[in-house]
Amino acid sequence: MRRIALVGLLASAALNYACADAPEGPRPNVILISADTLRADHVGANGYHRETSLTIDALAARGVNFTSAYSHAPNTAPSHTSILTSLYPSVHGVLQHGQVPDENLVTLPEALSEAGYQTGAFTQLNGRTFEPGFDTWHYIESATQNGKGLGELDMVTDWVGERTAPWFVFLHSYDVHLPYAPEPEYVDMWAGDYEGPLSPNITRKLVDRINGESDDGETLEVAARDLQFIVDMYDAELRRLDDIYGRLFARLEEMGEWDNTIIVFLADHGEEFGEHGKYGRHTYTLNEELLRVPLVIAGPGVPAGQTIDAAVRMVDVAPTILGLVGVENPQYFMGESLAPIWDGEERAPRQVLAERGTENVQRTLIHAGFKYMDDGRLFDLTADKWGTVDIAADNPDIVERMATSLADWLGDFQALAAVVHTDGEVHLSEEDERRLRALGYLQ
Ligand SMILES: [Zn+2]
Repeated sequence: MRRIALVGLLASAALNYACADAPEGPRPNVILISADTLRADHVGANGYHRETSLTIDALAARGVNFTSAYSHAPNTAPSHTSILTSLYPSVHGVLQHGQVPDENLVTLPEALSEAGYQTGAFTQLNGRTFEPGFDTWHYIESATQNGKGLGELDMVTDWVGERTAPWFVFLHSYDVHLPYAPEPEYVDMWAGDYEGPLSPNITRKLVDRINGESDDGETLEVAARDLQFIVDMYDAELRRLDDIYGRLFARLEEMGEWDNTIIVFLADHGEEFGEHGKYGRHTYTLNEELLRVPLVIAGPGVPAGQTIDAAVRMVDVAPTILGLVGVENPQYFMGESLAPIWDGEERAPRQVLAERGTENVQRTLIHAGFKYMDDGRLFDLTADKWGTVDIAADNPDIVERMATSLADWLGDFQALAAVVHTDGEVHLSEEDERRLRALGYLQ
């Protein structure tokens, strides 16, 4: 239980921070936006060569942009649960759609609710994993032919307009998730010259064939330009989504809701585009292209125009938000506020953990530029960005040190999981199952 006591201490340190940073006057509103499946490196503010994300880039300019933010799982349910509970996946135990967090947990929306916030989720998450934590929960129906795209977000701004207290909005959508089937005006932005054979409807079935993983055993050989076309369609979906964010932000500004609102933009995991040989896939590895996600925080109490390259974690998001609005962290939060980093008062690199799988869980620990995998591999991320060259054999001391750190963490995980682990029951309606099938999750 050693580290759990430490977690408590860190939480109170974070709170002290929070109160120093918390603005005077009415508590700020909070909007937490998750672009499911968005890789960090496809965002312009992180150096991408295309104008995929003008709205997000402008947000980064008026806040703090974290260029090395890590998710804790390469798939939707565990990763979002870690964001909203500040617990690692094997601690909260929510590993698939339809499972819900343990009822003894106080989640981010519940902590805000207890502090007087009105809380609303607007999401395409299936199985209502977080419905119990929010005052209201709206499933966002797709506005496009491809079964997942956002339309205009009047439901969000209408709800905000009716609030009588500070509000918290969680907005999540599958726009950049498969299938990549953007509207024609966005297809032409980067692939106007492409003549086939692929069409602008990149489906799970298609990438399975290209990856040699098709259920029917069929494979599809494609050229380099075709693989680039897959990426083009992903980027086109991102640009369309970013345009929707732009209109949402403009509307909030018109309503006078913008200046006193903290905006947090992030994603739950990335997507594979050939770094380790596969395309259009997530869930199956702990590789960098799946764990590195965007993280931008802007608004009251956040300095403008900072870029932070130090590794930070999705479990740090909820403590940061609570710190900014002056609310104490709930008992079991494992993350820490990011404010000491942007204030220049924290220099030591944070340890980042990620996990995948339900049985025979695989884990990785990332610290000070090194990435240790629990199968014994070691990568130097400063020289090998995607983690493709195993240097374990030449660095037994680093391997031993990181293996020991990981084992320490796991002892803490088990102790906490004994208290706050989900019962594992799956709550999925027929409608939830239909939507999951459309995204390629259920056969
Ligand atoms: Zn996801």
